[in-house]
Amino acid sequence: MTRNDYDVVVVGGGHNALVSAAYLARAGLSVLVLERLGRLGGAAVSTQAFAGQPARLSRYSYLVSLMPDALMADLDLDVRLVSRRTASYTPYLRDGRHGGLLVERPEGEATRASFRELTGSDDEHDAWRAFYAEVGTLAEAVAPTLLEPLPTERDVAAGVDPALWRDVVTEPLGAALRRRFRDETVRGVVATDALIGTFASLDDPSLVQNRCFLYHLVGNGTGEWRVPVGGMGAVTDALARTAASAGAELVTDAGVSAIRPGPDGAEVRWHDGTRERGVTCRRVLSGVAPWVLRILLGEEAEPGTKPSGAQLKINMLLERLPRLRSGVDPEVAFAGTLHLAQRFDQLEAAYAQAAAGGMPDVLPGEVYCHSLTDPSILGDLAGTGAHTLTYFGLHTPDTLFAEDPEAARTLAVERALASLDEHLEEPLRSCLMTDADGRPCLEAKVPQDVEADLAMPGGHIFHGHLEWPWSPGRARLETPAQRWGVATDSDVVLLCGSGARRGGAVSGIGGHNAAQAVLEEL
Ligand SMILES: Cc1cc2nc3c(=O)[nH]c(=O)nc-3n(C[C@H](O)[C@H](O)[C@H](O)COP(=O)(O)OP(=O)(O)OC[C@H]3O[C@@H](n4cnc5c(N)ncnc54)[C@H](O)[C@@H]3O)c2cc1C
Repeated sequence: MTRNDYDVVVVGGGHNALVSAAYLARAGLSVLVLERLGRLGGAAVSTQAFAGQPARLSRYSYLVSLMPDALMADLDLDVRLVSRRTASYTPYLRDGRHGGLLVERPEGEATRASFRELTGSDDEHDAWRAFYAEVGTLAEAVAPTLLEPLPTERDVAAGVDPALWRDVVTEPLGAALRRRFRDETVRGVVATDALIGTFASLDDPSLVQNRCFLYHLVGNGTGEWRVPVGGMGAVTDALARTAASAGAELVTDAGVSAIRPGPDGAEVRWHDGTRERGVTCRRVLSGVAPWVLRILLGEEAEPGTKPSGAQLKINMLLERLPRLRSGVDPEVAFAGTLHLAQRFDQLEAAYAQAAAGGMPDVLPGEVYCHSLTDPSILGDLAGTGAHTLTYFGLHTPDTLFAEDPEAARTLAVERALASLDEHLEEPLRSCLMTDADGRPCLEAKVPQDVEADLAMPGGHIFHGHLEWPWSPGRARLETPAQRWGVATDSDVVLLCGSGARRGGAVSGIGGHNAAQAVLEEL
Protein backbone atom coordinates (compact mmCIF):
# COMPACT_ATOMS: atom_id res chain seq x y z
CA MET A 1 0.00 0.00 0.00
CA THR A 2 1.66 3.18 -1.19
CA ARG A 3 -0.75 5.90 -0.06
CA ASN A 4 -3.61 6.69 2.36
CA ASP A 5 -6.12 7.93 -0.17
CA TYR A 6 -7.27 6.25 -3.39
CA ASP A 7 -9.82 6.94 -6.06
CA VAL A 8 -11.28 3.48 -5.49
CA VAL A 9 -10.90 0.80 -2.82
CA VAL A 10 -12.20 -2.64 -3.80
CA VAL A 11 -13.24 -4.79 -0.86
CA GLY A 12 -12.53 -8.47 -1.49
CA GLY A 13 -10.12 -9.83 -4.08
CA GLY A 14 -12.32 -12.25 -6.02
CA HIS A 15 -12.14 -12.45 -9.81
CA ASN A 16 -14.82 -9.74 -10.18
CA ALA A 17 -12.82 -7.36 -7.98
CA LEU A 18 -9.81 -7.94 -10.21
CA VAL A 19 -11.84 -7.14 -13.32
CA SER A 20 -12.96 -3.85 -11.76
CA ALA A 21 -9.42 -3.05 -10.66
CA ALA A 22 -8.05 -3.74 -14.14
CA TYR A 23 -10.57 -1.49 -15.89
CA LEU A 24 -10.23 1.34 -13.38
CA ALA A 25 -6.43 1.28 -13.20
CA ARG A 26 -6.24 1.22 -16.99
CA ALA A 27 -8.43 4.35 -17.00
CA GLY A 28 -5.83 6.05 -14.81
CA LEU A 29 -7.55 5.83 -11.41
CA SER A 30 -5.67 4.84 -8.26
CA VAL A 31 -7.03 1.50 -7.06
CA LEU A 32 -6.45 -0.57 -3.92
CA VAL A 33 -7.84 -4.13 -3.65
CA LEU A 34 -8.10 -5.57 -0.11
CA GLU A 35 -8.47 -9.36 0.21
CA ARG A 36 -8.82 -11.10 3.56
CA LEU A 37 -7.23 -14.38 2.44
CA GLY A 38 -3.56 -14.91 1.66
CA ARG A 39 -4.44 -15.31 -2.02
CA LEU A 40 -6.61 -13.69 -4.68
CA GLY A 41 -9.46 -15.13 -6.72
CA GLY A 42 -12.15 -16.05 -4.17
CA ALA A 43 -13.98 -19.07 -5.61
CA ALA A 44 -11.96 -18.99 -8.85
CA VAL A 45 -8.77 -20.76 -7.78
CA SER A 46 -6.66 -23.84 -8.43
CA THR A 47 -5.23 -25.77 -5.50
CA GLN A 48 -2.92 -28.66 -4.90
CA ALA A 49 -5.63 -30.24 -2.78
CA PHE A 50 -3.93 -33.52 -1.87
CA ALA A 51 -0.63 -33.74 -0.01
CA GLY A 52 2.21 -34.99 -2.17
CA GLN A 53 0.11 -35.03 -5.34
CA PRO A 54 1.00 -32.48 -8.01
CA ALA A 55 -2.47 -32.12 -9.56
CA ARG A 56 -3.93 -28.62 -9.22
CA LEU A 57 -7.71 -28.84 -9.04
CA SER A 58 -10.25 -26.09 -9.52
CA ARG A 59 -11.32 -26.37 -5.92
CA TYR A 60 -14.64 -24.48 -6.16
CA SER A 61 -15.77 -23.12 -9.56
CA TYR A 62 -14.58 -25.14 -12.53
CA LEU A 63 -16.22 -24.25 -15.87
CA VAL A 64 -16.60 -20.89 -17.62
CA SER A 65 -19.53 -19.82 -19.74
CA LEU A 66 -20.60 -16.35 -18.70
CA MET A 67 -17.33 -14.48 -19.08
CA PRO A 68 -17.91 -12.47 -22.26
CA ASP A 69 -15.32 -12.98 -25.00
CA ALA A 70 -15.42 -9.18 -25.41
CA LEU A 71 -14.33 -8.67 -21.80
CA MET A 72 -11.50 -11.16 -22.20
CA ALA A 73 -10.33 -9.40 -25.34
CA ASP A 74 -10.67 -5.96 -23.73
CA LEU A 75 -8.39 -6.97 -20.88
CA ASP A 76 -6.01 -8.95 -23.12
CA LEU A 77 -6.53 -11.92 -20.84
CA ASP A 78 -4.08 -14.69 -21.43
CA VAL A 79 -6.66 -17.43 -20.79
CA ARG A 80 -7.68 -20.27 -23.07
CA LEU A 81 -11.17 -21.72 -22.78
CA VAL A 82 -11.65 -24.98 -24.66
CA SER A 83 -14.72 -26.98 -25.62
CA ARG A 84 -15.49 -30.41 -24.25
CA ARG A 85 -16.19 -33.04 -26.88
CA THR A 86 -19.06 -34.48 -24.89
CA ALA A 87 -21.84 -32.16 -23.75
CA SER A 88 -23.42 -34.66 -21.38
CA TYR A 89 -23.86 -38.33 -20.62
CA THR A 90 -26.68 -39.58 -18.43
CA PRO A 91 -26.36 -43.20 -17.35
CA TYR A 92 -29.63 -44.97 -16.63
CA LEU A 93 -30.98 -48.34 -15.64
CA ARG A 94 -34.17 -49.19 -17.48
CA ASP A 95 -35.92 -52.59 -17.52
CA GLY A 96 -32.85 -54.13 -15.91
CA ARG A 97 -30.54 -52.83 -18.64
CA HIS A 98 -27.80 -50.23 -18.25
CA GLY A 99 -27.70 -47.53 -20.90
CA GLY A 100 -26.80 -43.89 -21.25
CA LEU A 101 -28.17 -40.78 -22.96
CA LEU A 102 -25.28 -39.23 -24.86
CA VAL A 103 -25.31 -35.64 -26.05
CA GLU A 104 -22.27 -34.95 -28.22
CA ARG A 105 -20.71 -31.58 -28.91
CA PRO A 106 -21.55 -30.69 -31.58
CA GLU A 107 -24.65 -32.88 -31.61
CA GLY A 108 -24.63 -35.51 -34.32
CA GLU A 109 -26.13 -38.84 -35.29
CA ALA A 110 -24.99 -40.58 -32.09
CA THR A 111 -27.05 -38.09 -30.08
CA ARG A 112 -30.18 -38.78 -32.10
CA ALA A 113 -29.62 -42.54 -31.83
CA SER A 114 -29.13 -42.24 -28.10
CA PHE A 115 -32.44 -40.38 -27.63
CA ARG A 116 -34.15 -43.02 -29.76
CA GLU A 117 -32.71 -45.84 -27.69
CA LEU A 118 -33.91 -44.22 -24.47
CA THR A 119 -37.35 -43.05 -25.57
CA GLY A 120 -38.30 -45.35 -28.47
CA SER A 121 -38.72 -42.60 -31.10
CA ASP A 122 -37.26 -39.33 -32.39
CA ASP A 123 -39.92 -37.19 -30.72
CA GLU A 124 -37.93 -36.26 -27.62
CA HIS A 125 -34.85 -35.48 -29.67
CA ASP A 126 -36.89 -33.26 -31.97
CA ALA A 127 -38.42 -31.52 -28.93
CA TRP A 128 -34.93 -31.09 -27.45
CA ARG A 129 -33.53 -29.54 -30.59
CA ALA A 130 -36.53 -27.24 -30.98
CA PHE A 131 -36.31 -26.10 -27.36
CA TYR A 132 -32.60 -25.31 -27.44
CA ALA A 133 -32.92 -23.58 -30.81
CA GLU A 134 -35.55 -21.31 -29.25
CA VAL A 135 -33.50 -20.78 -26.09
CA GLY A 136 -30.65 -19.80 -28.40
CA THR A 137 -32.70 -16.84 -29.63
CA LEU A 138 -33.19 -15.72 -26.04
CA ALA A 139 -29.46 -16.11 -25.36
CA GLU A 140 -28.67 -14.02 -28.43
CA ALA A 141 -31.03 -11.33 -27.20
CA VAL A 142 -29.60 -11.25 -23.66
CA ALA A 143 -25.86 -11.82 -24.14
CA PRO A 144 -25.02 -8.55 -25.92
CA THR A 145 -26.74 -6.55 -23.15
CA LEU A 146 -24.65 -7.91 -20.29
CA LEU A 147 -21.83 -5.41 -20.69
CA GLU A 148 -24.21 -2.51 -21.33
CA PRO A 149 -26.39 -0.46 -18.96
CA LEU A 150 -29.41 -2.51 -17.93
CA PRO A 151 -31.98 -3.01 -20.66
CA THR A 152 -35.60 -2.92 -19.58
CA GLU A 153 -37.56 -6.13 -19.37
CA ARG A 154 -39.78 -4.85 -22.15
CA ASP A 155 -36.81 -4.23 -24.47
CA VAL A 156 -35.55 -7.78 -24.08
CA ALA A 157 -38.99 -9.38 -24.30
CA ALA A 158 -39.70 -7.53 -27.53
CA GLY A 159 -37.08 -9.59 -29.34
CA VAL A 160 -38.22 -12.98 -28.03
CA ASP A 161 -41.07 -15.29 -29.02
CA PRO A 162 -43.87 -14.74 -26.43
CA ALA A 163 -44.38 -18.50 -25.87
CA LEU A 164 -40.69 -18.95 -25.06
CA TRP A 165 -40.76 -15.87 -22.82
CA ARG A 166 -43.61 -17.46 -20.87
CA ASP A 167 -41.79 -20.81 -20.67
CA VAL A 168 -38.51 -19.40 -19.38
CA VAL A 169 -39.34 -16.07 -17.78
CA THR A 170 -42.88 -15.79 -16.47
CA GLU A 171 -44.09 -19.31 -15.63
CA PRO A 172 -42.31 -21.77 -13.29
CA LEU A 173 -39.94 -23.76 -15.50
CA GLY A 174 -41.41 -27.11 -14.45
CA ALA A 175 -44.56 -26.38 -16.47
CA ALA A 176 -42.62 -25.88 -19.71
CA LEU A 177 -40.54 -28.99 -19.14
CA ARG A 178 -43.66 -31.10 -18.63
CA ARG A 179 -45.32 -29.57 -21.66
CA ARG A 180 -42.35 -29.91 -23.98
CA PHE A 181 -40.87 -33.29 -22.95
CA ARG A 182 -42.39 -36.62 -22.00
CA ASP A 183 -39.40 -38.54 -20.69
CA GLU A 184 -38.37 -37.94 -17.06
CA THR A 185 -34.67 -38.39 -17.87
CA VAL A 186 -34.77 -35.89 -20.71
CA ARG A 187 -36.77 -33.45 -18.59
CA GLY A 188 -34.22 -33.82 -15.81
CA VAL A 189 -31.19 -33.22 -18.05
CA VAL A 190 -32.77 -29.95 -19.16
CA ALA A 191 -33.84 -29.04 -15.64
CA THR A 192 -30.45 -29.29 -13.94
CA ASP A 193 -29.30 -25.94 -15.32
CA ALA A 194 -32.06 -24.40 -13.21
CA LEU A 195 -30.74 -25.93 -10.01
CA ILE A 196 -26.97 -25.50 -10.06
CA GLY A 197 -26.42 -23.40 -6.97
CA THR A 198 -30.14 -22.84 -6.48
CA PHE A 199 -32.26 -24.70 -3.93
CA ALA A 200 -35.78 -24.78 -5.33
CA SER A 201 -38.52 -26.91 -6.76
CA LEU A 202 -38.88 -26.65 -10.52
CA ASP A 203 -42.39 -25.39 -9.79
CA ASP A 204 -41.29 -22.70 -7.34
CA PRO A 205 -43.50 -19.62 -7.84
CA SER A 206 -40.59 -17.30 -6.96
CA LEU A 207 -39.04 -18.29 -10.33
CA VAL A 208 -35.57 -18.39 -8.77
CA GLN A 209 -35.01 -21.63 -10.70
CA ASN A 210 -35.94 -19.88 -13.98
CA ARG A 211 -33.39 -17.15 -13.34
CA CYS A 212 -30.70 -19.75 -12.63
CA PHE A 213 -31.68 -21.57 -15.83
CA LEU A 214 -31.38 -18.41 -17.91
CA TYR A 215 -27.88 -17.61 -16.59
CA HIS A 216 -26.76 -21.12 -17.42
CA LEU A 217 -27.85 -20.78 -21.05
CA VAL A 218 -26.93 -17.26 -22.16
CA GLY A 219 -23.13 -17.14 -21.90
CA ASN A 220 -21.68 -15.53 -25.05
CA GLY A 221 -24.97 -16.19 -26.81
CA THR A 222 -24.36 -19.95 -26.89
CA GLY A 223 -24.53 -21.04 -23.26
CA GLU A 224 -21.57 -23.34 -23.79
CA TRP A 225 -19.58 -24.18 -20.64
CA ARG A 226 -15.89 -24.34 -21.47
CA VAL A 227 -12.82 -25.62 -19.69
CA PRO A 228 -10.26 -23.04 -18.52
CA VAL A 229 -6.88 -24.45 -19.50
CA GLY A 230 -4.72 -24.63 -16.39
CA GLY A 231 -7.82 -24.66 -14.18
CA MET A 232 -9.80 -21.80 -12.68
CA GLY A 233 -6.65 -20.39 -11.07
CA ALA A 234 -5.40 -19.53 -14.56
CA VAL A 235 -8.33 -17.11 -14.94
CA THR A 236 -7.55 -15.38 -11.65
CA ASP A 237 -3.80 -15.29 -12.33
CA ALA A 238 -4.38 -13.64 -15.71
CA LEU A 239 -6.75 -11.07 -14.20
CA ALA A 240 -4.35 -10.30 -11.35
CA ARG A 241 -1.50 -9.80 -13.82
CA THR A 242 -3.61 -7.44 -15.91
CA ALA A 243 -4.79 -5.42 -12.89
CA ALA A 244 -1.32 -5.19 -11.35
CA SER A 245 0.39 -4.24 -14.58
CA ALA A 246 -2.14 -1.43 -15.02
CA GLY A 247 -1.08 -0.11 -11.61
CA ALA A 248 -3.74 -1.48 -9.24
CA GLU A 249 -2.38 -2.38 -5.80
CA LEU A 250 -3.48 -5.86 -4.75
CA VAL A 251 -3.10 -6.54 -1.02
CA THR A 252 -3.77 -9.97 0.51
CA ASP A 253 -4.15 -10.87 4.20
CA ALA A 254 -6.17 -7.67 4.48
CA GLY A 255 -9.54 -8.38 6.10
CA VAL A 256 -11.84 -5.37 5.89
CA SER A 257 -13.67 -4.74 9.15
CA ALA A 258 -15.67 -1.58 8.39
CA ILE A 259 -16.73 0.75 5.59
CA ARG A 260 -17.77 4.26 6.65
CA PRO A 261 -19.40 6.14 3.78
CA GLY A 262 -19.64 9.95 3.76
CA PRO A 263 -21.15 12.34 1.22
CA ASP A 264 -18.17 12.39 -1.18
CA GLY A 265 -16.21 9.30 -0.29
CA ALA A 266 -15.60 6.67 2.34
CA GLU A 267 -13.16 5.35 4.88
CA VAL A 268 -12.30 1.65 4.78
CA ARG A 269 -10.88 -0.02 7.91
CA TRP A 270 -8.92 -3.24 7.57
CA HIS A 271 -6.53 -5.45 9.49
CA ASP A 272 -3.14 -6.50 8.18
CA GLY A 273 -2.64 -9.30 10.72
CA THR A 274 -0.87 -7.13 13.26
CA ARG A 275 -2.81 -3.89 13.38
CA GLU A 276 -5.89 -2.11 12.16
CA ARG A 277 -5.39 0.35 9.34
CA GLY A 278 -7.54 2.86 7.50
CA VAL A 279 -7.65 4.31 4.05
CA THR A 280 -9.92 6.86 2.38
CA CYS A 281 -11.31 6.84 -1.13
CA ARG A 282 -13.87 8.44 -3.43
CA ARG A 283 -15.69 5.18 -4.16
CA VAL A 284 -15.81 1.74 -2.55
CA LEU A 285 -16.51 -1.27 -4.74
CA SER A 286 -17.81 -4.26 -2.82
CA GLY A 287 -16.70 -7.60 -4.18
CA VAL A 288 -18.09 -9.34 -1.12
CA ALA A 289 -21.64 -10.64 -0.82
CA PRO A 290 -24.31 -7.97 -0.20
CA TRP A 291 -25.11 -9.66 3.12
CA VAL A 292 -21.45 -9.30 4.22
CA LEU A 293 -21.39 -5.71 2.93
CA ARG A 294 -24.29 -4.77 5.18
CA ILE A 295 -22.30 -5.96 8.20
CA LEU A 296 -19.24 -3.98 7.08
CA LEU A 297 -21.47 -0.92 6.77
CA GLY A 298 -22.41 -1.37 10.43
CA GLU A 299 -25.91 -2.71 9.93
CA GLU A 300 -27.37 -5.46 12.13
CA ALA A 301 -26.79 -8.95 10.72
CA GLU A 302 -30.33 -10.23 10.21
CA PRO A 303 -30.22 -14.04 10.22
CA GLY A 304 -33.55 -14.19 8.37
CA THR A 305 -32.09 -12.52 5.30
CA LYS A 306 -28.91 -14.56 5.16
CA PRO A 307 -28.52 -16.53 1.91
CA SER A 308 -28.46 -20.30 2.17
CA GLY A 309 -26.32 -22.43 -0.12
CA ALA A 310 -27.22 -25.98 -1.08
CA GLN A 311 -24.40 -27.58 -3.05
CA LEU A 312 -21.94 -30.35 -2.30
CA LYS A 313 -18.62 -30.14 -4.14
CA ILE A 314 -16.40 -33.22 -4.08
CA ASN A 315 -12.91 -33.02 -5.57
CA MET A 316 -11.15 -36.26 -6.37
CA LEU A 317 -7.98 -37.58 -7.92
CA LEU A 318 -8.20 -41.01 -9.58
CA GLU A 319 -5.59 -43.58 -10.58
CA ARG A 320 -7.80 -44.42 -13.54
CA LEU A 321 -11.28 -43.63 -14.79
CA PRO A 322 -13.80 -46.27 -13.74
CA ARG A 323 -15.53 -48.47 -16.32
CA LEU A 324 -19.28 -48.00 -16.77
CA ARG A 325 -21.88 -50.76 -16.84
CA SER A 326 -23.39 -49.36 -20.01
CA GLY A 327 -20.13 -50.17 -21.78
CA VAL A 328 -19.59 -46.60 -22.96
CA ASP A 329 -15.97 -45.45 -23.22
CA PRO A 330 -15.24 -43.65 -19.90
CA GLU A 331 -13.28 -41.03 -21.84
CA VAL A 332 -16.51 -40.14 -23.63
CA ALA A 333 -18.83 -40.37 -20.61
CA PHE A 334 -16.70 -38.36 -18.18
CA ALA A 335 -15.52 -35.70 -20.67
CA GLY A 336 -18.80 -33.81 -20.40
CA THR A 337 -21.35 -33.40 -17.64
CA LEU A 338 -22.31 -36.85 -16.36
CA HIS A 339 -25.75 -36.54 -14.78
CA LEU A 340 -26.56 -38.67 -11.74
CA ALA A 341 -30.01 -39.16 -10.20
CA GLN A 342 -31.20 -36.07 -12.05
CA ARG A 343 -34.44 -37.38 -13.55
CA PHE A 344 -37.14 -34.74 -13.17
CA ASP A 345 -39.00 -36.85 -10.60
CA GLN A 346 -35.78 -37.52 -8.68
CA LEU A 347 -34.94 -33.80 -8.60
CA GLU A 348 -38.35 -32.98 -7.19
CA ALA A 349 -38.25 -35.83 -4.65
CA ALA A 350 -34.78 -34.81 -3.45
CA TYR A 351 -35.87 -31.18 -3.12
CA ALA A 352 -38.96 -32.15 -1.11
CA GLN A 353 -36.93 -34.37 1.20
CA ALA A 354 -34.23 -31.75 1.77
CA ALA A 355 -36.76 -28.96 2.26
CA ALA A 356 -38.36 -31.11 4.97
CA GLY A 357 -34.98 -31.32 6.73
CA GLY A 358 -33.71 -34.71 5.55
CA MET A 359 -30.68 -35.71 3.50
CA PRO A 360 -32.10 -36.90 0.15
CA ASP A 361 -31.96 -40.71 -0.04
CA VAL A 362 -30.95 -40.40 -3.66
CA LEU A 363 -28.70 -37.40 -4.13
CA PRO A 364 -28.86 -35.63 -7.50
CA GLY A 365 -25.55 -34.36 -8.82
CA GLU A 366 -23.17 -34.28 -11.75
CA VAL A 367 -19.65 -35.36 -12.38
CA TYR A 368 -17.04 -34.07 -14.78
CA CYS A 369 -13.40 -34.83 -15.53
CA HIS A 370 -11.33 -31.71 -16.24
CA SER A 371 -8.14 -33.56 -17.12
CA LEU A 372 -9.70 -35.33 -20.14
CA THR A 373 -9.94 -31.93 -21.84
CA ASP A 374 -6.93 -30.28 -20.18
CA PRO A 375 -4.32 -32.70 -18.78
CA SER A 376 -2.02 -29.78 -17.91
CA ILE A 377 -3.51 -29.57 -14.40
CA LEU A 378 -2.20 -33.08 -13.61
CA GLY A 379 1.45 -31.99 -13.56
CA ASP A 380 3.73 -35.05 -13.50
CA LEU A 381 0.70 -37.36 -13.43
CA ALA A 382 -0.25 -36.48 -17.02
CA GLY A 383 -0.09 -39.53 -19.24
CA THR A 384 -0.16 -42.06 -16.35
CA GLY A 385 -3.90 -42.72 -16.66
CA ALA A 386 -4.61 -40.57 -13.60
CA HIS A 387 -7.50 -38.11 -13.79
CA THR A 388 -9.25 -35.47 -11.73
CA LEU A 389 -12.94 -35.86 -11.03
CA THR A 390 -15.37 -33.25 -9.78
CA TYR A 391 -18.79 -33.95 -8.30
CA PHE A 392 -21.26 -31.07 -7.94
CA GLY A 393 -24.26 -32.11 -5.85
CA LEU A 394 -27.67 -30.42 -5.66
CA HIS A 395 -30.19 -30.13 -2.88
CA THR A 396 -27.90 -30.37 0.13
CA PRO A 397 -28.85 -27.14 1.95
CA ASP A 398 -26.65 -25.82 4.75
CA THR A 399 -29.37 -26.66 7.30
CA LEU A 400 -28.69 -30.39 6.78
CA PHE A 401 -25.14 -29.92 8.10
CA ALA A 402 -25.97 -27.67 11.04
CA GLU A 403 -26.50 -30.22 13.82
CA ASP A 404 -23.82 -32.85 13.25
CA PRO A 405 -21.64 -31.54 10.41
CA GLU A 406 -19.22 -34.47 10.21
CA ALA A 407 -21.89 -37.18 10.22
CA ALA A 408 -23.95 -35.28 7.65
CA ARG A 409 -20.92 -34.72 5.43
CA THR A 410 -20.04 -38.43 5.55
CA LEU A 411 -23.61 -39.38 4.70
CA ALA A 412 -23.76 -36.90 1.82
CA VAL A 413 -20.50 -38.18 0.34
CA GLU A 414 -21.64 -41.81 0.66
CA ARG A 415 -24.92 -41.02 -1.12
CA ALA A 416 -23.16 -39.06 -3.82
CA LEU A 417 -20.75 -41.92 -4.50
CA ALA A 418 -23.59 -44.44 -4.37
CA SER A 419 -25.39 -42.58 -7.17
CA LEU A 420 -22.29 -43.02 -9.33
CA ASP A 421 -21.39 -46.55 -8.22
CA GLU A 422 -24.82 -47.74 -9.38
CA HIS A 423 -23.58 -47.24 -12.93
CA LEU A 424 -20.01 -48.46 -12.54
CA GLU A 425 -18.35 -51.82 -13.06
CA GLU A 426 -16.04 -51.07 -10.12
CA PRO A 427 -16.69 -48.86 -7.09
CA LEU A 428 -15.28 -45.37 -7.47
CA ARG A 429 -13.36 -45.66 -4.20
CA SER A 430 -11.24 -48.43 -5.75
CA CYS A 431 -10.04 -45.92 -8.36
CA LEU A 432 -9.02 -43.14 -5.93
CA MET A 433 -5.36 -42.25 -5.57
CA THR A 434 -3.93 -41.81 -2.09
CA ASP A 435 -2.09 -38.77 -0.77
CA ALA A 436 1.32 -38.63 0.92
CA ASP A 437 -0.27 -39.79 4.20
CA GLY A 438 -2.05 -42.75 2.61
CA ARG A 439 -5.47 -41.08 2.67
CA PRO A 440 -7.82 -41.34 -0.32
CA CYS A 441 -7.66 -38.25 -2.56
CA LEU A 442 -11.20 -37.02 -1.94
CA GLU A 443 -12.26 -33.76 -0.34
CA ALA A 444 -15.84 -32.63 0.17
CA LYS A 445 -17.01 -29.06 0.51
CA VAL A 446 -20.46 -28.55 2.02
CA PRO A 447 -22.04 -25.08 2.23
CA GLN A 448 -20.52 -24.46 5.66
CA ASP A 449 -17.03 -25.11 4.23
CA VAL A 450 -17.64 -22.69 1.38
CA GLU A 451 -18.72 -20.06 3.89
CA ALA A 452 -15.71 -20.69 6.14
CA ASP A 453 -13.23 -20.77 3.24
CA LEU A 454 -14.60 -17.93 1.11
CA ALA A 455 -16.95 -15.84 3.29
CA MET A 456 -19.80 -16.59 0.90
CA PRO A 457 -22.71 -16.27 3.37
CA GLY A 458 -24.50 -19.55 3.96
CA GLY A 459 -22.14 -21.02 1.36
CA HIS A 460 -24.37 -19.58 -1.39
CA ILE A 461 -22.23 -19.87 -4.52
CA PHE A 462 -23.70 -16.74 -6.13
CA HIS A 463 -23.64 -14.60 -2.91
CA GLY A 464 -27.47 -14.80 -2.92
CA HIS A 465 -30.29 -15.50 -5.37
CA LEU A 466 -29.65 -14.53 -8.98
CA GLU A 467 -31.70 -11.69 -10.41
CA TRP A 468 -33.05 -11.22 -13.93
CA PRO A 469 -30.41 -9.61 -16.15
CA TRP A 470 -32.65 -6.66 -16.96
CA SER A 471 -34.37 -3.93 -15.06
CA PRO A 472 -37.91 -4.56 -13.91
CA GLY A 473 -40.38 -1.90 -15.04
CA ARG A 474 -40.51 -0.21 -11.64
CA ALA A 475 -36.74 0.15 -11.07
CA ARG A 476 -35.12 3.60 -10.66
CA LEU A 477 -32.43 4.18 -13.24
CA GLU A 478 -31.26 7.67 -12.32
CA THR A 479 -27.62 7.22 -11.32
CA PRO A 480 -24.88 5.43 -13.25
CA ALA A 481 -24.80 2.79 -10.49
CA GLN A 482 -28.53 2.14 -10.89
CA ARG A 483 -28.27 2.05 -14.67
CA TRP A 484 -25.45 -0.51 -14.49
CA GLY A 485 -27.22 -2.64 -11.86
CA VAL A 486 -24.54 -2.13 -9.20
CA ALA A 487 -26.18 0.32 -6.78
CA THR A 488 -26.42 0.05 -3.00
CA ASP A 489 -28.22 2.39 -0.59
CA SER A 490 -25.05 4.50 -0.41
CA ASP A 491 -24.03 6.64 -3.40
CA VAL A 492 -20.34 6.02 -2.75
CA VAL A 493 -20.51 2.22 -2.35
CA LEU A 494 -21.17 0.07 -5.44
CA LEU A 495 -21.47 -3.69 -5.91
CA CYS A 496 -18.85 -5.27 -8.17
CA GLY A 497 -19.20 -8.95 -7.19
CA SER A 498 -21.49 -11.88 -7.71
CA GLY A 499 -24.24 -10.05 -5.81
CA ALA A 500 -24.52 -7.30 -8.42
CA ARG A 501 -27.43 -7.67 -10.82
CA ARG A 502 -25.93 -9.84 -13.62
CA GLY A 503 -22.88 -10.55 -11.39
CA GLY A 504 -23.35 -14.28 -10.65
CA ALA A 505 -20.82 -16.95 -11.67
CA VAL A 506 -17.29 -16.58 -13.03
CA SER A 507 -18.07 -13.88 -15.55
CA GLY A 508 -16.37 -10.65 -14.55
CA ILE A 509 -19.62 -8.94 -15.55
CA GLY A 510 -20.25 -7.48 -12.09
CA GLY A 511 -16.69 -6.17 -12.03
CA HIS A 512 -16.94 -4.67 -15.50
CA ASN A 513 -20.27 -2.99 -14.84
CA ALA A 514 -19.21 -1.47 -11.51
CA ALA A 515 -16.08 -0.07 -13.17
CA GLN A 516 -18.17 1.51 -15.94
CA ALA A 517 -20.48 3.12 -13.38
CA VAL A 518 -17.49 4.55 -11.48
CA LEU A 519 -15.94 5.86 -14.68
CA GLU A 520 -19.20 7.65 -15.51
CA GLU A 521 -19.37 9.13 -12.01
CA LEU A 522 -15.78 10.25 -11.39
C1 LIG B 1 -18.28 -24.91 -5.14
C2 LIG B 1 -18.55 -23.85 -6.17
C3 LIG B 1 -18.64 -24.21 -7.52
C4 LIG B 1 -18.90 -23.23 -8.47
N1 LIG B 1 -18.88 -23.57 -9.79
C5 LIG B 1 -18.93 -22.60 -10.72
C6 LIG B 1 -18.61 -22.88 -12.08
O1 LIG B 1 -18.20 -23.98 -12.44
N2 LIG B 1 -18.70 -21.86 -12.97
C7 LIG B 1 -19.09 -20.59 -12.61
O2 LIG B 1 -19.19 -19.72 -13.47
N3 LIG B 1 -19.37 -20.30 -11.32
C8 LIG B 1 -19.26 -21.26 -10.37
N4 LIG B 1 -19.43 -20.94 -9.05
C9 LIG B 1 -19.82 -19.57 -8.69
C10 LIG B 1 -18.67 -18.62 -8.83
O3 LIG B 1 -17.51 -19.20 -8.34
C11 LIG B 1 -18.93 -17.31 -8.07
O4 LIG B 1 -20.16 -16.76 -8.45
C12 LIG B 1 -17.82 -16.32 -8.38
O5 LIG B 1 -16.55 -16.90 -8.19
C13 LIG B 1 -17.95 -15.09 -7.50
O6 LIG B 1 -16.85 -14.24 -7.77
P1 LIG B 1 -16.70 -12.88 -7.00
O7 LIG B 1 -15.42 -12.28 -7.42
O8 LIG B 1 -17.92 -12.06 -7.18
O9 LIG B 1 -16.68 -13.27 -5.46
P2 LIG B 1 -15.84 -14.32 -4.63
O10 LIG B 1 -15.19 -15.30 -5.49
O11 LIG B 1 -16.75 -14.82 -3.55
O12 LIG B 1 -14.72 -13.42 -3.99
C14 LIG B 1 -14.99 -12.57 -2.89
C15 LIG B 1 -13.70 -12.35 -2.14
O13 LIG B 1 -13.94 -11.46 -1.07
C16 LIG B 1 -13.17 -11.87 0.03
N5 LIG B 1 -13.72 -11.26 1.25
C17 LIG B 1 -14.87 -11.59 1.88
N6 LIG B 1 -15.04 -10.83 2.98
C18 LIG B 1 -13.97 -9.98 3.02
C19 LIG B 1 -13.56 -8.96 3.92
N7 LIG B 1 -14.27 -8.62 5.00
N8 LIG B 1 -12.39 -8.29 3.66
C20 LIG B 1 -11.63 -8.60 2.57
N9 LIG B 1 -11.97 -9.59 1.70
C21 LIG B 1 -13.14 -10.27 1.92
C22 LIG B 1 -13.26 -13.37 -0.01
O14 LIG B 1 -12.21 -13.99 0.72
C23 LIG B 1 -13.15 -13.63 -1.53
O15 LIG B 1 -11.83 -13.80 -1.94
C24 LIG B 1 -19.13 -21.88 -8.07
C25 LIG B 1 -19.00 -21.52 -6.73
C26 LIG B 1 -18.71 -22.49 -5.79
C27 LIG B 1 -18.55 -22.07 -4.35
